[in-house]
Amino acid sequence: EEMSDAVRSFLDTGIYRLDRDGSMVVFLDPVRILNHSYSRFRVSPSAYYSRSFETTTAAMKTDAVEDSRIVKKRKRTRAPRDLNERERAAEKRHQEARTCLLNAHKAFLEAAELQALLPELVKSEISLLTRRASEQKFIQLGGLWQAPLYEISLCFRNKNLSDDTGGYRLGDHGGSIIVHQLYNNLICNETNEDVEAEFQSNHYILPSRSCFHMSDLRQVRNLVPAHSKDGFNFIVIDPPWENGSACQKALYPTLPNRYFLYLPVKELAHEGGALVALWMTNREKLRIFVENELFPAWGVTKFVLSYWLKVKPDGSLISELDLFHHRPYECLLLGYINLQNDDSRAMPFEYLGINQVIVSIPGDYSRKPPLGQLLMDHIPGPKPAKCIELFARELGAGWTSWGNEPLHFQDSKYFVER
Ligand code: SAM
Repeated sequence: EEMSDAVRSFLDTGIYRLDRDGSMVVFLDPVRILNHSYSRFRVSPSAYYSRSFETTTAAMKTDAVEDSRIVKKRKRTRAPRDLNERERAAEKRHQEARTCLLNAHKAFLEAAELQALLPELVKSEISLLTRRASEQKFIQLGGLWQAPLYEISLCFRNKNLSDDTGGYRLGDHGGSIIVHQLYNNLICNETNEDVEAEFQSNHYILPSRSCFHMSDLRQVRNLVPAHSKDGFNFIVIDPPWENGSACQKALYPTLPNRYFLYLPVKELAHEGGALVALWMTNREKLRIFVENELFPAWGVTKFVLSYWLKVKPDGSLISELDLFHHRPYECLLLGYINLQNDDSRAMPFEYLGINQVIVSIPGDYSRKPPLGQLLMDHIPGPKPAKCIELFARELGAGWTSWGNEPLHFQDSKYFVER
């Protein structure tokens, strides 16, 4: 069968461009993008897109609840005196976003060849029932007095691996097993292939040249380089913003906004410039805080707004666009630190223009699509770019991940062997 260049490229990269009329729209398949990080394993689509498999009855129930909410909301929006000043400002921003999101969704739905591929993307290859239910509780363990005593074993297939990363070597198993202190420690897979690691009978997959530091906010300064020439060129941050959602509270702890003022983002940046990507919720109060306090404190300038639009495998939005508390989109602010004036990439805004929309089918709760491949051309400084993710729950080839549970999505249950 005839395959278009766009489809061929999408199947390889996980990126499908839908740009039109000067607006930037792109559809991402995170599974395909993440797979570029792995050699011996693949991300399991059914594990990544597990939310798309929630039973139809459960889905129907939530739909019914949402429907009743829509009715209430519609009634309320008819009486504008119900909205306070901040809500009106939020509504105004939503109206600005609305046109560009609707255009993006239209472009996405009209790409017939892409629509035809969607059911394939999320396709279940292994039964979800075979996935182990138990998940390591890294956050809780990290808070125990025993935390400094926990150790993780990295199982390298190469027997003659020289190790200068501070771990100690165990026995002879045909390969090398190197044991590291798990918490408050920078652990790296410096080889060019995936490495399996074991902690308390769970297995984790560490992609090539990936590093992680599992620790609390108080330890993040340990990642600041001695000299900013060794700093990072791309800094992705998805903070645990407070938003009052009960589901979020159960899944990970949140922090008040002022804590993020002390994140050493400026100190982590490379002297030759860094692109900063900050994920945000839709709260108006938060937008004001980020623009007036947080970005100035971090030294982030020239930022632009992008949107992440969430769709279902059937192409429809995950919720109605105008639902006040259940927007089917989130905001992503992109800005620069230490941008050199003579850098030709000081013009990236031609591409990183306003109205950029990223469309994808969401994975697990709060899991964001990977941005590295998409934004690669807009990262300033020397190549290959040094990339770091703060508050990460996963690793990436060539990336450094910091947070209190960076191994969360590295559990072997999210992978299949190639
Ligand atoms: N970007 C991630 C993803 O795509 O899966 C989601 C990040 S989530 C919004 C925020 C993360 O920050 C959670 O993993 C949470 O446990 C972590 N976190 C919360 N409080 C923290 C703290 N004090 N120190 C380090 N990490 C913390």
